[in-house]
Amino acid sequence: MSIVCHYNEIGLKGNNRRFFEEKLIENIRTVLDRDFFSKIKRISGRIIIELTLLGEKNKKEIEKKLKNVFGLANFSFVRETKQDVGEIERLVFEILREEEFKTFKIFTQRSNKNFNLTSQEINKIVGEFVVNNLRKKVKLENPDITIFIEIVDNKAFVYLEKISGPGGLPIGVSGQGLVLLSDGIDSPVAAWQMMKRGMKVSFIHFYSYLDHEKEVIEKVKKIVTILSKYQGPSTLYLIPFKEIQKSILEEGTRDCCLICKRTMFKIASEIAQKKYINALITGDSLGQVASQTIENMKITEERTDLLVLRPLIGFDKQETIKRAREIGTYDISIVQTTFYCQGRLPKHPCTKGNIKQVKKMEKGLVNENLISVAINNLERVKTGH
Ligand code: ATP
Ligand code: MG
Repeated sequence: MSIVCHYNEIGLKGNNRRFFEEKLIENIRTVLDRDFFSKIKRISGRIIIELTLLGEKNKKEIEKKLKNVFGLANFSFVRETKQDVGEIERLVFEILREEEFKTFKIFTQRSNKNFNLTSQEINKIVGEFVVNNLRKKVKLENPDITIFIEIVDNKAFVYLEKISGPGGLPIGVSGQGLVLLSDGIDSPVAAWQMMKRGMKVSFIHFYSYLDHEKEVIEKVKKIVTILSKYQGPSTLYLIPFKEIQKSILEEGTRDCCLICKRTMFKIASEIAQKKYINALITGDSLGQVASQTIENMKITEERTDLLVLRPLIGFDKQETIKRAREIGTYDISIVQTTFYCQGRLPKHPCTKGNIKQVKKMEKGLVNENLISVAINNLERVKTGH
């Protein structure tokens, strides 16, 4: 038994196609148990995974893993035979004998154009065979089952089910990003959205919790572990932030959130640049809170030279929550925590900051020394092994 993997978007990428396909194969290799397959190869715009006997016994586990591999549009467990219509009929018969159904249709794709029958002709011949030998009815709209036949390379594949993959692009084809990861709902989803577009991400979390710092760090690690399912082992940078927050809040300025976010951007970019990462990612969504107005986002990103990506900018909270549930981070994200600044924030944080004023204020509150102390005390954690 093999698995035939289909991808949509990658097929369109012209000269880059090979690079994309190789990344996808590499990523499939990373997630699958080495004992489950004997070979993975590319043929005619598809990836074929040849399973071992052990692999055949672990279909559910393989399915679970492949569902998280970005770049896969869909995949199917297939049986294969020779490119001979009699052999195809025999295999179809064998597969259908185990199925209960009344109506069916055949859907053939032929990428080996040298095969002597067209897709339509194969549909017709095999269709008649099923009608005559199994006494079933053809129904083109909503049949009980669809029999897929693919004529690829020098083989014929037959299967009944296409399993949806997550779509997107293979991790690693779109460079690297550093996600500013809070312990909330939004930023884990933002990370996932970028992974989906082929970006390998690392994470940075600033902590300044009250009594239960350790628990919060464990919570953030759990979130990263879940996200690692989609991209493999991940790096998380933990930055102590309480001293910086204390200093910012002492002043009682309405711009405190802006200065705080700017400082996060500053520290994140220093770390990103050392690691040759050139994009920062946040979970901002337009207008969600005072620091997420267009004026204030402009002010915060002024503190970094790196590209700032905000994949949730047009998401409603409900859409983000739905996605967080699907990804599996929601239940952890909603566990309540208290950041140092909570209860100390101004009643009316500024929604339209003034850059000159913010910079002037910031100079007095967050000096270079505070920033280097935070960076020097960072902790680097690898998760998802
Ligand atoms: P989230 O649900 O991701 O916490 P939020 O809606 O609560 O977002 P804010 O708290 O204003 O919004 O944070 C906006 C973004 O800033 C977050 O999505 C995240 O990218 C970043 N951020 C906030 N707090 C932290 C933190 N402690 N460490 C790292 N990044 C943070
Ligand atoms: Mg938050």
